[in-house]
Amino acid sequence: MRRLACAALAMVLLATVPGLARRQGRQVPFPAIAATLLQQHIKVLSSDEYGGRLPGTRGEDLSVAYIADQFRRVGLKPGNPDGTYFQKVPLVGMTADKAMQLTFRKAGMTGSLKYLQDFVAWTRREAPDAGLQNSPLVFVGYGVQAPEFAWDDYKGVDVRGKTVVMLINDPPVPDPHDARKLDPAVFGGDAMTYYGRWTYKYDIGAAKGAAGILIVHESVPAGYAWSVVQGFGGERFDLVAPNGNVDKAAVEGWLTIDQVRKLFVMAGQNFDVLKKRAATREFRPVPLDVTASIHFGNRMRRVDSRNVIGRIDGSDAKLKAECVAYSAHWDHFGTGPAGIYHGAADNASGVAGVIEIARAFSRMPVRPKRTLLFLAVTGEEQGLLGSAYYVEHPVVPMAKTLADINIDILNVHGATKDVTIIGFGKSTLDEVARQVAARQDRVVHGDLEPQKGYYYRSDHFEFANRGVPGLYVDWVRNDFVGKAGDYGRNAADYYTEHNYHKPADVIMPDWDLHGAIQDLQMLWMVGFDVAQASKYPEWAVGSEFKARRVADVKR
Ligand SMILES: [Zn+2]
Repeated sequence: MRRLACAALAMVLLATVPGLARRQGRQVPFPAIAATLLQQHIKVLSSDEYGGRLPGTRGEDLSVAYIADQFRRVGLKPGNPDGTYFQKVPLVGMTADKAMQLTFRKAGMTGSLKYLQDFVAWTRREAPDAGLQNSPLVFVGYGVQAPEFAWDDYKGVDVRGKTVVMLINDPPVPDPHDARKLDPAVFGGDAMTYYGRWTYKYDIGAAKGAAGILIVHESVPAGYAWSVVQGFGGERFDLVAPNGNVDKAAVEGWLTIDQVRKLFVMAGQNFDVLKKRAATREFRPVPLDVTASIHFGNRMRRVDSRNVIGRIDGSDAKLKAECVAYSAHWDHFGTGPAGIYHGAADNASGVAGVIEIARAFSRMPVRPKRTLLFLAVTGEEQGLLGSAYYVEHPVVPMAKTLADINIDILNVHGATKDVTIIGFGKSTLDEVARQVAARQDRVVHGDLEPQKGYYYRSDHFEFANRGVPGLYVDWVRNDFVGKAGDYGRNAADYYTEHNYHKPADVIMPDWDLHGAIQDLQMLWMVGFDVAQASKYPEWAVGSEFKARRVADVKR
């Protein structure tokens, strides 16, 4: 259903997009991208010496110095208005004291939960401690308020000072025509919308005045493993806010499904029944008649982290005031008890890609008409912080930024016959990408794992949120040249299980960068086309970001 709709949309867009087709016979050739150079950048950035590239560590100093040096060597000008390659990003790092216990109480009954084993909690408020004192628990279903779908899980119920318990993901509403599927008209059907993400859930809960927000951990259908949630328990970063983030909930966290079931038994409720009801518009918040108490110390430190920015000025006197941005996050998780989180694929590879795309542009005898920006951003793993800061402090106004082309985890498994465009159908960039991919004898299609909501999980999302269309490609489950049909799926599943966000994300002997080179050549050409085009890329009708495009973009 979704695919058909997208195909129809693509055909409509096709008629309106200027681009390659117009340049008949005089197509600009794809640039050479050297695997050896990519490999060299990844090797340096993911080395032990860089310590896993956590913001605010020596690993940051080494990483941003390396990237700036590479930008300079390939011929980029410093992108920050102060004449440097560095945009300061003020962060606050906070570590909740692990000696904490969460207690549920109901007349005569007490349940004590163990940190990391049963729950994870932290605060995003800049304060030396945080807690909840006998805060009444309220189950708010999926915790979603979405007027466009006539959906409101709060129904005006006052949750101020209370602790809301909510389910992860979008409400799974069955298709009225086929109960085996999800209704494509509500919350994107099988595709996750932003309402399914935990970042949204914490934000709306805080907006409602909740003191505590606890998300129910479930690894199906598309959630993280509990071990990933446990990883949220270390030092967490946030952008420094003038108000110290007092508008966030006092305590945010996750509960294991086992503990949630026990809690509902204690409350005299049936979790499965309420979960089912939560997938309907009729759901109303359910007070659990149980209170939550917790208290913990919160260590804080201020860190001036850095986005690295390089630029190539446009060659057209007028259009050089406008830009196309490339982005990739340089940060990763640093060093923990399990070892150094090397982050070779995630995202030393993406940074390497941006450096090599920059080199290819820099070598052109005639530069593109519009300015090109190259951003290596910080704090992506902490919640897209570097890109969130950038879009609030852009070096070229958002209204004059045509697109963000983001790279997060290059394909290191070989050449492919197809390209996945995450969030396919959202903008005319998809059609530009389709035409470029066709020159490579490749086809493009939408997410093969739409339920995972990848569009909301990397830096292009912050640009989209500010109305700038983003392009982000993926290789998971793709069709690899000369490989069996399940090769792409197996490679992705293996990476997710053994390497993703683990110290074992290192350069492997079997890496094959042919697919990475295909993708980088494609992304280079898309950026080139957009930088030369007669008009701006546009959001598709019905995209949630269309209304956010600043009106003065109209040319
Ligand atoms: Zn990443």
